Amino acid sequence: MAKASWQGTNLPRVGGFNRAVVLDAIRQHGEVSRVELAQRTGLTAQTMSNIVRALIDDGLVTENGHAPSTGGKRRVLLKVVPDAYSAVGLHLDPERITGVLLDLAGGVRLRSRRRVPDDASPAAMAAALARTCHQLVRRSGIADDRVLGVGLAVPGPLDAAHRRVLAPPNLTGWEEVALADIVEERAGLPVVMDNDATAAAIGERWAGCADRAGSFVYVYLGSGVGVGVVLGDQVHRGVSNNAGEIGHVHSGGGRECHCGKRGCLEAYCSMRAIVADWRAATRQPGEGSVAETYEQLCRQAADGDATAARVLRVAATRLGHAVASVVSVLDVDRVVLGGPALRHVAELVRSRVAKVVEAQVWAPKIRPVRVETALIGEDAGAVGAASLVLDRAYSPRVATLLGP
Ligand SMILES: [Zn+2]
Repeated sequence: MAKASWQGTNLPRVGGFNRAVVLDAIRQHGEVSRVELAQRTGLTAQTMSNIVRALIDDGLVTENGHAPSTGGKRRVLLKVVPDAYSAVGLHLDPERITGVLLDLAGGVRLRSRRRVPDDASPAAMAAALARTCHQLVRRSGIADDRVLGVGLAVPGPLDAAHRRVLAPPNLTGWEEVALADIVEERAGLPVVMDNDATAAAIGERWAGCADRAGSFVYVYLGSGVGVGVVLGDQVHRGVSNNAGEIGHVHSGGGRECHCGKRGCLEAYCSMRAIVADWRAATRQPGEGSVAETYEQLCRQAADGDATAARVLRVAATRLGHAVASVVSVLDVDRVVLGGPALRHVAELVRSRVAKVVEAQVWAPKIRPVRVETALIGEDAGAVGAASLVLDRAYSPRVATLLGP
């Protein structure tokens, strides 16, 4: 029988949800008293006290001194125990594999970077991912049962129902690869997988605490372009878990894209496209990898090279138009730009995108839009991947209330 649109909520689910709400509030505010928690979450003092007791018993939260006296009894402060649990984050990019070990408080304990193997077959890549995971856990000295799992961030689009990568750009021979299952088997830990833009948005929310509360659009700039959407503290994944695949939205031009269509945003704003524009503008022959040449271009732009800066501004203008459309459709007031393609040139790109967005969005007086750079730097994909695990385990989600 098909399920009704709405499912009722049973009390144990409410309990789980409230517990996640409390843990999230403690995490977001660093150190906080029970009284403040009750005020912030709207729970009664008795409910709060019971939840906090259970969180302390489970080793997730600890008492940490007292708040300064305000006349009455000094309040005991609570904080999350960072070492309680950790998660491994792995980001597969066409150029390299980045791994991090993230603690429960969102701190990066260890990181690792390696080039993708020359044999970039799915089997070789899965082996390299699992190896990165094993090395991080071993180096950390953390007991295996304290590692919650592995998050895997990959370029979209994805077949989430079958945990498959569909056809990542620049990875030939990768069609419908059940990557999450392969890595899970090799790593010996549960794996959750998402596209890199959504993962980076969750990572930004997890690490950014109160600064990233509410709603925002995260624009991930790596080899390609993707968007992660957070609405009212919940990540929006869409019907097929591919929300925010903006890279292949038509952007007004007629250039051929690597996906086979014409005019896609990535035909103008991917690293490969920007490098091609720069080579054409400077009449340089194509030498070196796309990533190396892109890095060189950005360094030159940062050093004041007019041609390199112009090439980047042209791409950022087109990106800005696309972002303005997303902002208007979703009615959000904050855009966060992140990802490795911003290295050296974050402010150049941010200021351009901000200018275009400001000029194009509707009713800027009612809803001024802030365009900011991400709190997490170029490891956004890997940090985001690890956050997928922590987020799934510990963030309050409406889905917790609505059913399994
Ligand atoms: Zn395309």
